Amino acid sequence: MSIPSTDENMRYNVTSRGDDTSNEIRDKVLSYLNEFGLIHDEVHPDIVITVGGDGTLLQAFHHYYESLEDVCFVGIHTGHLGFYADWQPEEVEKLVIHLAKTPFQVVEYPLLEVIVRYNEHTRFERYLALNECMVKTLEGSLVCNVDIKGEHFETFRGDGLCISTPSGSTAYNKSLGGAILHPSLSSIQIAEMASINNRVYRTIGSPLILPQHHTCLLRPVNDVDMQITIDHITLVDQGIESIQYRVAEEKVRFARFRPFPFWKRVKESFIGE
Ligand code: NAP
Repeated sequence: MSIPSTDENMRYNVTSRGDDTSNEIRDKVLSYLNEFGLIHDEVHPDIVITVGGDGTLLQAFHHYYESLEDVCFVGIHTGHLGFYADWQPEEVEKLVIHLAKTPFQVVEYPLLEVIVRYNEHTRFERYLALNECMVKTLEGSLVCNVDIKGEHFETFRGDGLCISTPSGSTAYNKSLGGAILHPSLSSIQIAEMASINNRVYRTIGSPLILPQHHTCLLRPVNDVDMQITIDHITLVDQGIESIQYRVAEEKVRFARFRPFPFWKRVKESFIGE
């Protein structure tokens, strides 16, 4: 998908991780785009340029959560190569010229929908994750029934579960031994954290990948303090009846000015040149 040639009506914002290097680059991008006559709009930007790392892009994603249909993201990394932040500081001038002068491709990645339902039945909260949702308990093991597509699958007992998006599969999921998924696969992945497996308790023990139309439902067995982390945001709550996961209807949109294949990014990030 490509969007029309950028023009002087394009509205942009630039966010920074907050360190001196990232702030300096943010100021440079702001001043260049201003010179090109683009409109700086922190509230309703068409494009958001993040300067820092993948964590900075995650923060921007949650900041513009309500307007994902209208916003495209592009990330400049000031540390190591990121999965979302894939432009280098030396390329800032090139990126700015692209932004101001050339039409760009929009690449869409799937997101994870998380619905937390509470025991009062009427109360629920909905969240979107770009990377993953992790569920643990504040104290002791997590014990929960896992339903897949409406059928009981297993009773999990262990440290927790991580449900990730394909683009988040290179983050926490990877540390748990989950598979790396190409973001064109509209799916979610469930990975275990230290499950207890013996003659009494049994879980599948392998990461599971669910397609777009399958739902995963976690039903905690005990009413304990649950720790639910959505990307970098953690909430602790009690009285949770269930947590439902599926591929969200919404997608995150990235501006692409040049090809940078996913597997090349995987290789450069984890294996090296
Ligand atoms: P953080 O603890 O400050 O940084 C976690 C690291 O994960 C950073 O190096 C970050 O890259 C990297 N990262 C984030 N998204 C990634 C992705 N999609 N693919 C590969 N690496 C990725 O936490 P944060 O900056 O607030 O980011 C929150 C994310 O960190 C969570 O969504 C979780 O996936 C990840 N995390 C992973 C582990 C683990 O693997 N054991 C532990 C804690 C958190 P940058 O340096 O470029 O920002």
